Amino acid sequence: TREELVETLDRVDGKGYKAYKDIEGEYDMGGFLLYIDHVQSDPFAPPSRLRVRVAQTFPPDYTADRDSVVALSDYLTRQFSKSINKYNTRGRGTGRSFLISIDCGRQEILERTSMHIAQEYVEARFEVGLPAAGRRILGREAVKIFTETIPSIVKNSLFFGSIDWKEAVDFIDLYQDQQYIRRVLRNMGLVAFVADGAVLPRESGISERPLKNAVPFRSPDTMRVSIMLPHRGTITGMGIPEGVTLVVGGGYHGKSTLLKALEKCVYNHIPGDGREYVITVDDAVKIRAEDGRYIENVDISPFINNIPTGEDTRFFSTLNASGSTSQAANIIEALEIGTSLLLMDEDTCATNFMIRDARMQRLVSAEKEPITPFLDSVRALYENKGVSTVLVLGGAGDYFDVCDRVIMMDGFVPHDVTVRAKEIAEEIRSFRERDKAPDFTCIKERVPMKRSLNAGYKDKIQSKGLENIRMGYETVDLSMVEQIADDSQTAAIANIIRYARDRYIDDRATLREVIDRVLTDIDENSLSCISPFKGHPGNMARPRRYEIAAAFNRYRGFKTVR
Ligand code: ADP
Ligand code: MG
Repeated sequence: TREELVETLDRVDGKGYKAYKDIEGEYDMGGFLLYIDHVQSDPFAPPSRLRVRVAQTFPPDYTADRDSVVALSDYLTRQFSKSINKYNTRGRGTGRSFLISIDCGRQEILERTSMHIAQEYVEARFEVGLPAAGRRILGREAVKIFTETIPSIVKNSLFFGSIDWKEAVDFIDLYQDQQYIRRVLRNMGLVAFVADGAVLPRESGISERPLKNAVPFRSPDTMRVSIMLPHRGTITGMGIPEGVTLVVGGGYHGKSTLLKALEKCVYNHIPGDGREYVITVDDAVKIRAEDGRYIENVDISPFINNIPTGEDTRFFSTLNASGSTSQAANIIEALEIGTSLLLMDEDTCATNFMIRDARMQRLVSAEKEPITPFLDSVRALYENKGVSTVLVLGGAGDYFDVCDRVIMMDGFVPHDVTVRAKEIAEEIRSFRERDKAPDFTCIKERVPMKRSLNAGYKDKIQSKGLENIRMGYETVDLSMVEQIADDSQTAAIANIIRYARDRYIDDRATLREVIDRVLTDIDENSLSCISPFKGHPGNMARPRRYEIAAAFNRYRGFKTVR
């Protein structure tokens, strides 16, 4: 009980920090249950992991379906975080003393471990830096945190009566509308929707908040569609159809900004973000060149053949990929996991992968060029595999021949210039000889080798921020995997690698099957099931299958069965 916790804290007051370990356990705090799952080893270590559990008091309509639960959880987490800022009086102390935090995310609404809504209870998982002066326990201060601060935070954020329910419902309704758009896109023959009035540009390269005073989005009339939403009513905006779509326009006119929005809008965004009603199919994959990356046994032969080393590109491996081979591998790996939309920006593509014009074809004959440019395969990808492409281009008009749709950005406003582009393609011939379009029907699924995923010393597999995962002494570099939106997704990916290896990787299951099994477990048992910890599972957010695969593929020890 609460009294026992207070007694223990009195007893350890003034002692060395290690004595805090004595408070680990479960306490009835009167009104809520407190679980002290893990106490940090010193004031500078990662903060202690705690949970509170309260009775679930929300209307059943909002806790029955998965979408509502994800949205309500996200909302409650943000309220808990606000509540922390309101009630936490930061005293002085060493290291992380007095810190209280919950993993509440930023612009995206994601499924997270930090809030769990069950039939009977709501559980918040958060962190506390237990207070110390030097390395001596400030027991009396800790008592205040447990008997005053935390109860206030809990009381003001986790109950039906303590939150602004109208605001919460708006939040859930928005999320449901977003999910609705994403579901109907396919039936409408679209791969993305960008609402009229949306704000796409971000505040800065380091802030995902909306740019102030931005030019609002306005669909070209020829591409405008309207969608009747369950909550908000009818909404209009630009529908990007399946097929091959080019985004052209002068430099600085907003091409990359549009593509970035499409990349990030595989996730749903919070009210006020500007991209609330920008929705991309959830299996869209950003493709870019990534020279230097590791490649293990990828069949890049649809794009690259007869390389001078004589290697068989059906089984291509390298420690140091070139721009074009890395881009080819990124596409094949996306197809291996299954995608219906590729997103590319000329700013981050390898030119020789994208185009090969008539003059270059004349000078360097086809036999001497291992690369079949994307220009010659983009149609086959759509026609044989049903994979659409949205491609930002400022400089390669040869693509007019192979596209279905051309959007021109002009002063941040899109125009449909398809007809004109097709006329120009007739008037000014490219004089190219088309390379034989590759056959994408034989994308093979690779089988991960269990032994290759032993991380060595202490089997350390741990994320570091957004972009890195430590595997033993290796660091997996995810900085070019641009659709990871949150540190906690990276943390989840690290846990998934270990979980998948220990359960499902058996030198027979393919990478895609392994990832599917893990995601099924998460669907059935919640995201915490991949955690190595009991109690507070650590801060994780749900990643997509592509980013999970991307981490496997970039681990320099990764091997597949041949
Ligand atoms: P491009 O790829 O065509 O060269 P960008 O998309 O990089 O252009 O945009 C150039 C700049 O314009 C960026 O700094 C971006 O933030 C800003 N920008 C983009 N869209 C808008 C908009 N709708 N309103 C105001 N500024 C914008
Ligand atoms: Mg650009």
